[in-house]
This record gives sequence, structure tokens and C-alpha cells, in this order.
Amino acid sequence: IKSSTDSSVSVENGSNGNHQPEPIINLDHGDPTMYESYWKKLGEKCRLTIPVSQSLSYFANAKNLCWFLEPKLEQEIKILHNVVGNAIVEDHHVVVGTGSSQLIQAALYALSDSLNQPNPISVVSAAPYYSSYREIADFLRSGLFKWGGDAYKFDEDEPYIEMVTSPNNPNGVMREAVVNRAGGMVVHDLAYYWPQYTAITSPADHDIMLFTVSKCTGHAGSRIGWALVRDKDVAKKMVKFIEINTIGVSKEAQLRAASILEIVSASCQIGVEPYDLENFFEYSKNFMAERWKKLRDAVKKNELLSVTKFPRQYCNFTAGFTEAHPAFVWMKCKEGMDCEKVLREHKILTRGGKRFGSDQEHVRISMLSRDEEFDLFLQRLPNIIADEEV
Ligand code: PMP
Repeated sequence: IKSSTDSSVSVENGSNGNHQPEPIINLDHGDPTMYESYWKKLGEKCRLTIPVSQSLSYFANAKNLCWFLEPKLEQEIKILHNVVGNAIVEDHHVVVGTGSSQLIQAALYALSDSLNQPNPISVVSAAPYYSSYREIADFLRSGLFKWGGDAYKFDEDEPYIEMVTSPNNPNGVMREAVVNRAGGMVVHDLAYYWPQYTAITSPADHDIMLFTVSKCTGHAGSRIGWALVRDKDVAKKMVKFIEINTIGVSKEAQLRAASILEIVSASCQIGVEPYDLENFFEYSKNFMAERWKKLRDAVKKNELLSVTKFPRQYCNFTAGFTEAHPAFVWMKCKEGMDCEKVLREHKILTRGGKRFGSDQEHVRISMLSRDEEFDLFLQRLPNIIADEEV
């Protein structure tokens, strides 16, 4: 199944010509199934039962600005940010969304609608940028906003919205806004600003910050994201967008997300129940570090493929120096190579650099798959090198 989003289904089969089934490895999407083993170990400790008489109303808290936000989820979001130290929650409104994908759209609506411009305003992001921004900006041919391309190339003297992804999808680097011009509005997409992917150097404190359980805990299927929004009117407009779009967000999903976040926070605190829980971020960080080590070993000394190096930085959460272990590899192939095509010939599906506003010598490869797929990928890498070198 081929998908334009980050969340397609991956199991497909091909044939290697000897009538031996050779599985296609789909590392195109960023489907975060990698922490499944952690959650399996938890067994019954995080089971949530919702009585059939509960959650009938559209409303979760009619007095709250975000009237469909479950109070328990709001509480657990704030606790988790305080435990991890990755974002300032004070002076921010929490807006829940059906994934952060819905919140990206809500933010674009809220920011552009407040301007009352005659023409759609440009949405830009520095290349290589998360490929969905372009799709989201142009999909409905809105009269409010349109895709404006690479932020490094944006030189119009008019209002704009810049999407800043930090750490960045696809290349894992920490980022700041690059346009910095009057009339600019910035949305910080911090989906990967968690200790397993990068050092937590300071709590983020921006006007609009987006997070998602998808990349934090791996529960992408629950479709829960949240925005921390400083300005009350912007937050209200985001809530209005979600009201018109889906009349709120599933309460069952919110309650499940709340108990998952509660477990994650508890796992980070010694002496908090359940006592025998392994620190989730320690587990997931070691897991990602191990994958990156294996990948670097596999591409070492090879002239065709190269992988970004990341500086060591002090992480306030782990109280130690660490390298980044991004959710994706941004791989560069030898000059002139169509990297996505070469990998596809070896039945490895990746996302080509052009989709991210970059070139065909780059591909994005997901590091978030299950072990079986990742191990197969590592096994196949030497063949690619051998084939291309002859
Ligand atoms: N922002 C970024 C940077 C992402 O990588 C993703 C998922 N690939 C999303 C937002 C959307 O995540 P979700 O809708 O699952 O919360």
C-alpha cells in the first residue's frame, strides 16, 4: 500500500526471481512501532476500561477554552512536560487535536484568518522540510493560505507562516526560524523534542508548540496530539477549527493517551507506582542509540552512502552528554545517484529527497519500524553497495 502520508501500512511481498518470496521493506513512512516491546512488558498495568455509560457528551469541560479537552489529559500533558523539562506549559493554553496533523491545520487557519488578507498567505519551511506541510497547505486550495516553499528562499515582503520543526523531520537537526521578518508568524512543531531523539537543552517556550503521542510514546494509532498556545485568541480559533472539522476529539482516545502519559511520567520518577517500571525515556533512548550504532556500522567505510553526524550535547533530563538519535536517517548517496530508485530496486521503500524540497541524492529512511524490518534492512545494505560498485 503506497501512501503520501507518514502512516501507510507496510507488509508487502515481492519475488526475487527464484520464486523465493523476498519481502519488501517499507521504510517510507514514519510508523512508530518500535517501542512495542516496552509496552508489551507492561501487560495489564496500563489497561483502561471505559464504562459504556461514560463519555456520551460532546463536551469534556464546558468551562475550558478547549471545551472538548479531557481534564485528565490536560493534567498529564502538563505533568509530563514538567518531568521532562522540554516545554513551558505556564501561560499557554492546551488544545487537543486528532493527531498533531489536525493541529497543524488548525494553526494555519487560526493564524491566517486573523490577518484578513485579500490573498492566501504563504506557508514556508526550511528545506529539507516535513513533506506533509506542503500537502496540508495546498490540499484544499484554501483562500487563507498556500504553500510558499523553502523558507531559505522566501523573499516576499508580506505576512507569512513559517513551520519550524525541531528536531527536524527528515534530517534530525535542531532548528530555529530562518525568515525572521516583520509580519512573520511561526509554528514550532516539536513532535521529536523528547529525550530518546535528542538532548533536552532547555524548555521550549514559543507562541505555538505542537506535540504528539505518536512520536513520544509510539501510540500513533490513538491519534492524539496537543498544542501549547500562548495567545488566547489564536487558541480559540484553533478550537473553532476543530469544532467545525470534527466537533472535538475522541474522548476514549484522550483518556487512553492520558493514562499512557501518566505511566510514562511515573516511569521517570523513582518511588512512584508502579515501582518496577523501567524509565521509558531511558529504554527508548537506548533502543534508538542501538539502532543508530548498527546503522553507522553498516554504512561505515562505504563510498556510496553517508549518514549525518550529530554533535554531543548536554541533556538536562538525563544529566549527561548525548548524541542525537533521530527518528529518521537522512541518507546521502554518491553524486548523481537516484537514491530512492536504487533502494527500491533492492525492495527497500524510502522517501526521496525531492519530496522534502531537497534532491534525489537524499532519501529519508524510517528508524521507527519493528526489529524484523530494521534487521532485514541492515542485512540488505551491503548488497546495495556491492551492486552499485560493479
Ligand atoms: N509533525 C511532524 C514533524 C511529524 O513527523 C509528524 C508525523 N510524521 C506529524 C507532525 C504528525 O503526527 P500525528 O498526526 O501522528 O500526531
